[in-house]
Amino acid sequence: MRTAIYPGSFDPVTLGHIDVIERASKMVDKLIVAVLNNSSKNSLFSVEERVNMLKEVTSHLDNVEIRHFGGLLIDFARECNAAIIVRGLRAVTDFEYELQMAQTNRIMNRDIDTLFLTTDLKYAYLSSSIVKEVARFGGDISEFVVPMVAEKVKEKYKI
Ligand code: ADP
Repeated sequence: MRTAIYPGSFDPVTLGHIDVIERASKMVDKLIVAVLNNSSKNSLFSVEERVNMLKEVTSHLDNVEIRHFGGLLIDFARECNAAIIVRGLRAVTDFEYELQMAQTNRIMNRDIDTLFLTTDLKYAYLSSSIVKEVARFGGDISEFVVPMVAEKVKEKYKI
């Protein structure tokens, strides 16, 4: 059974993330979307909230499971029996960091490979940070996230 893991902050999940999840889930038997429990980072949503939103937006995908993790990704991948780490690449700016992470993970465990999916052009500009930045100032985020997520973001900023 081929299992892959797609890690990230997903604070909140965007249409760009959903596109990567849908495409990656077709390539493997099981895709685990792993929400990083990043206590040091100031997140808008709690881990539970991020997990719940991801569950809702992936409910149409039978082989996708949502989990959260702390610590080293490579250890969590091993725990999940995942031999593939999925990451999305948007622009050159993503590349340097992603390459460094992939190489580090490969040195730590040679049985696990990183698979990069290039973003769909229509989401190339999109990040969770951009969504929050626009929403914070009352902008329309309906092109960036599903309606349920847009509502939750608006609630957070009391719009
Ligand atoms: P961000 O806050 O930048 O959206 P995440 O940590 O939530 O970042 O991202 C998790 C993974 O999803 C990363 O590999 C990131 O490159 C990828 N990703 C994020 N947004 C997109 C997008 N619009 N298209 C493709 N991949 C994306």
